Amino acid sequence: MPEGDALFRFARRVDGALAGKTIVRARAQGPGPVPQVERLIGVVCVGARSVGKNLLIEFANGLVLRGHLRMYGTWHVYRPGQAWRRAEREARLVLEVEDFVVVNFSAPVIELLESRALPSYPPLAGLGPDLLDDNFDPLEALRRFRDPLRADLTIGDAIMDQQVMAGVGNIWKHETLFRCGINPWRRVRHLDDDELLRIVATARDLLRASVGKPDGRGIARRPEMYVYLRSGQPCRRCGTRLVSARQGVDIRYTTWCPRCQPGEGEPASANSLVEP
Ligand SMILES: [Zn+2]
Repeated sequence: MPEGDALFRFARRVDGALAGKTIVRARAQGPGPVPQVERLIGVVCVGARSVGKNLLIEFANGLVLRGHLRMYGTWHVYRPGQAWRRAEREARLVLEVEDFVVVNFSAPVIELLESRALPSYPPLAGLGPDLLDDNFDPLEALRRFRDPLRADLTIGDAIMDQQVMAGVGNIWKHETLFRCGINPWRRVRHLDDDELLRIVATARDLLRASVGKPDGRGIARRPEMYVYLRSGQPCRRCGTRLVSARQGVDIRYTTWCPRCQPGEGEPASANSLVEP
């Protein structure tokens, strides 16, 4: 699943292609509700930005396109006439300016909204502070972790709750908790403020390292993976065999090092099978 850092990179590329330019062609197709993107033809694009895992493209007529990729969606930027790397029938949205073609493939959510409605729009309004926002406030994330509704969540689930802080998905959940030495099965109520703030700061460092410098140069390979998709392999730090178990509402595998991430609450079924 694309995470906050991937969305940030998509937004930077889409912004570079469209910002300040007039849309000359626009089309959208299903599956799913089809936004009336013809309303964007002849309109100047103001810019694109990511908010958590959402990509927002704003226009001078007060409209904004919101895309959410969930598991399979992606954004491509092409030059006019350049061959696409995926089939045209998979394109959900195509926006063309004079010198670029921006294509969304397979996003389950593409919708056209009024900019002024965004602050109160439910998918965005409930989001926690964005880890890639320059004004990110770690104490606000801490306050949201401390909501009584989250006290009994495992940290492996709570760290991906976009209403606590926006941007962490499955990869950075794994890597953040390993780097902090925190067992993913510990309950939020058993973590002290220092531990939660260390988790917040580490997640932010990892996402920022992954997106590279603000000018878009020197981007960043992703930081080395210690545990993500490494179940059954030796820990890169201590050599202990990494274990995994299903966790969370979407019951995907979580992998951790039992020695570097000690803690209560590991399920009895934890094993070192390689995840499917
Ligand atoms: Zn280890």
